[in-house]
Amino acid sequence: MAFSELCSIASVASGLVPFYALYRVTDLLIAGGGEDGIAFWLVVAAAAYACQRVLFGFSTVLSHVSAYTILATLRHDINDKLMRASLGTAASKSVGALKNLYVDRIESIEVPLAHMIPELSANVLMAVGIAAWMTVLDWRLALACLGTFSLGALVFLRSMGTYDRMYAGYRAESDRVNSAMVEYIEGIRVVKAFNQTSESYRKYADAVESFRDYTLGWFKATWGAQNLALSIIPTTLFGVVPVGIALYLAGELSPSEFALACMLSLAIVTPLTYLGASFNTANNISYAIVDAREFLDLPELPQPSVPGSVKDFSVSFDRVRFSYVAGEETIREVSLTVAEGSSLALVGPSGSGKTTLARLIARHWDVGEGSVRIGGVDVRELSLDELSNLVSYVSQDDHLIDGTLYENVLIGRPQASEEEVRAAMRAASCDEFVSKLERGWDTPAGEAGRSLSGGERQRVCIARAVLKDAPIIVLDEATAFADPDNEARIQRSIAYLAHGKTLIVIAHRLSTITAADSIAVMENGSVAAQGTHAQLLESSPLYARMWEAHVGSARWAVGSHGAPCLSQVFHAHGREHEKGEDR
Ligand code: ADP
Repeated sequence: MAFSELCSIASVASGLVPFYALYRVTDLLIAGGGEDGIAFWLVVAAAAYACQRVLFGFSTVLSHVSAYTILATLRHDINDKLMRASLGTAASKSVGALKNLYVDRIESIEVPLAHMIPELSANVLMAVGIAAWMTVLDWRLALACLGTFSLGALVFLRSMGTYDRMYAGYRAESDRVNSAMVEYIEGIRVVKAFNQTSESYRKYADAVESFRDYTLGWFKATWGAQNLALSIIPTTLFGVVPVGIALYLAGELSPSEFALACMLSLAIVTPLTYLGASFNTANNISYAIVDAREFLDLPELPQPSVPGSVKDFSVSFDRVRFSYVAGEETIREVSLTVAEGSSLALVGPSGSGKTTLARLIARHWDVGEGSVRIGGVDVRELSLDELSNLVSYVSQDDHLIDGTLYENVLIGRPQASEEEVRAAMRAASCDEFVSKLERGWDTPAGEAGRSLSGGERQRVCIARAVLKDAPIIVLDEATAFADPDNEARIQRSIAYLAHGKTLIVIAHRLSTITAADSIAVMENGSVAAQGTHAQLLESSPLYARMWEAHVGSARWAVGSHGAPCLSQVFHAHGREHEKGEDR
């Protein structure tokens, strides 16, 4: 950027040379003769012009390289920040605001960075240089030249008085329209399924129209004054010509000096107009910086200076308290222990805090009080990489990224060999549906995503976790799939995934977890009861009621097909645990 600026300044300096050359040529013409001198100055003017263009070219290339590097760095930095922030912090930003910042706002500083910074200083310099030159010619000419500019600038600045307030409103409107657009597109399936087209579309259309009205209103409010200012600013000749003629008549200005004054007063117009236009652009940069700061200053998950190392793969909650919103506790004093290689199922009414508790293990959020420990070490004392290696969080809303199916699985362990990826896919029973795809594993997930069922997509996500092979699996058990065949395959792949691991399952259907080593019944954010299925049926009225309700609904289930279920996971798990087999 600095080199670009230097080139730009040198380019402006070269740009002044032709004016001087023409002044000398006029002088020689008036004096008569001097063809050699005229030819020399014309060549100087042409060379200086060529120099100006070449230097300007260099300046532009350098400033663009610099601008796009800054844009990319900024996008990377914001992304890194979101990666280091807790999931809660990252998810608190609306998708519209994110899209607006990542795409539009950051893009909006490309023009200012690539053009304004080098060109502005050059133009300021040029305006100051010309004004100084005019002063040297005659200070009255300089005053006459800048008089109209000052008037125009005053009108312009007055029209800018409300800029900050208006721009804040503009930002809010543009975030709103972006959010409405993204939500509308994301929800289009639901919209169509429930024939909500007109209602949802209205929200989107309202945002678009309100954005249009706001920007038009702003434009109308400033249009008159801005045009007046932009009409006054270039009228430098209005002052220079009469003052120049008066000075010439008074014998204080030669004809060539008069001609030079006219040329200079025309030459100063472009840089002066540029200064006015830069006002908007400079504001754009400052607002984009404010927006980017909002993200770059997000609090990060604290990381230990000396990461601890776990002694085994047990998980324990020690008097854990947690709130999403201050004053409203979601988890109240939960203490639980899951021994290495054993299984814990979390059950309870919806909203009782099962998902929240499970997510605290993977540090999607940090506990308010108490601690979550893995192998005796507080998860906050582990490096984020180590924690990520230890825990696989498999949820029903995991989604496929934009890449091939193969690449989607490879995310689990990027350094894995092709054979390992294929083995993981086989273990998660993906091969049967993948073999039906024309391009097999290399089918883009987006393309495949449209033709894959929910269960098939989930198996790809399970294959990812199988490949990762983390010793602790946190599983948000999927709610029922319509197709029992698919269900059986999912359960088989989960059984493979959980084999010999420490397993924590958020269970939605009780029949699937009857064989878990331990079941914790959650109620209002605390553990109401804990034990095996048989013990809980005896001791926990809430569990007994839930079981009753579940069995009742299972009777209604159409063709339950002896529901292949997580119980096979737990049976396998339990047997292994009893035998004390080592991993
Ligand atoms: P469960 O998994 O048992 O259905 P959750 O852990 O999902 O329960 O939710 C427990 C409570 O926390 C609910 O009242 C829910 O509304 C609230 N909650 C969940 N996620 C958030 C969040 N990101 N921000 C604020 N409240 C939340």
